[in-house]
Amino acid sequence: MTNDRVDSALGFGTGTSTDHSDGIRWVDYANISWNPVFCKRCDICIEICPKDTLVMRNDAVIEEQNCILCGLCERYCPDLAIEMIPAAVQAHAAQAAERRTSEGAATSD
Ligand code: SF4
Ligand code: SF4
Repeated sequence: MTNDRVDSALGFGTGTSTDHSDGIRWVDYANISWNPVFCKRCDICIEICPKDTLVMRNDAVIEEQNCILCGLCERYCPDLAIEMIPAAVQAHAAQAAERRTSEGAATSD
């Protein structure tokens, strides 16, 4: 049997967010940044996510697949403990703009 428990929520993610300079550690995933200190584990973000992207595991909120950067988790978290990563939001917007441009080019042919 394998034991994949992680001793601390800080074992997840990539470490201290470069988007926060307040000295409080945030855990960065691909699109979402989560704060284990502010978070009270209420599950609201997990329930509200339309893509079932977020899970609670070993007392940590984890971003799994399929985040569409809709912002609902950030908007509804009562403790300001989860945010979209600005660089991911920008990349998502750029991809959407590119897609619109190429779709426009295809329909004008
Ligand atoms: S931004 Fe939207 S899709 Fe991504 S984790 Fe939050 S609620 Fe889910
Ligand atoms: S909604 Fe906020 S406080 Fe509640 S589990 Fe999600 S990140 Fe934590």
